[in-house]
Amino acid sequence: MSRQNCYTCFRPQNQCYCSHIREVDTGVKFVFLMHPWEAYKQRTGTGRLTALSLEDSEIIVGKSFDSNRRYRELLEDESCFPVVLYPGEGALTADEFGSRYGDEFHGPDSQTVRTGRKLLVFLVDATWVMARKMVHHTPSLQTLPRLSFSASYRSRFQIKKQPASFCLSTIESTYYLIREMQEAGLCRQDVSVDHLMDVFDRLNEFQMESERLGRAAGSAAGQSISPESNIKKGRLPKEPAPSES
Ligand SMILES: [Zn+2]
Repeated sequence: MSRQNCYTCFRPQNQCYCSHIREVDTGVKFVFLMHPWEAYKQRTGTGRLTALSLEDSEIIVGKSFDSNRRYRELLEDESCFPVVLYPGEGALTADEFGSRYGDEFHGPDSQTVRTGRKLLVFLVDATWVMARKMVHHTPSLQTLPRLSFSASYRSRFQIKKQPASFCLSTIESTYYLIREMQEAGLCRQDVSVDHLMDVFDRLNEFQMESERLGRAAGSAAGQSISPESNIKKGRLPKEPAPSES
């Protein structure tokens, strides 16, 4: 069996997801700040599939970003209004965000452009512990307006497996964020992002099938491809994690 990866979705070629991916235009730009471990080591990450599913999205790989050329370019781009999805003090729900900053950027529908800039959402794609370090080492991120979820969501995968914590995979976080932004009028409301969850469900199904086959073959340790390990390690909880210090 070939172990080569697809160069688009980075999955092993026999698990390539490209044919399941549909790109939608939400009217908002999404930039995934991806930890190198997610980008190169983590076989189970969903960030790349999420970016492939959204028009006007991109991935920047790094541990800190203030000296990253592309990141700085985006931050200084006069046509963008940058925000970050990150919980904690001062974080606003999409609704609150729209009320407070609505005049600063134009609406998601290009037909109703007001003066202002396009909304740009940075998402930190890493485990929660890594994400906290990335934000800590990128002071400019700390100065951006913060978005957070208005509700607690449970991972669909956890519901099947182990209903323990509040952590979501990147693709689920993005799905719920976009849904809340749609309700608040920040994202286009005439497009569906249900395909994000479809991709996630397929990943889970694939994982369970792989585990079943792995058990049957009595091997396959380390061949796991599900988002499960991400979820266990934790991503973007609604509330900040307790301080380490
Ligand atoms: Zn592919």
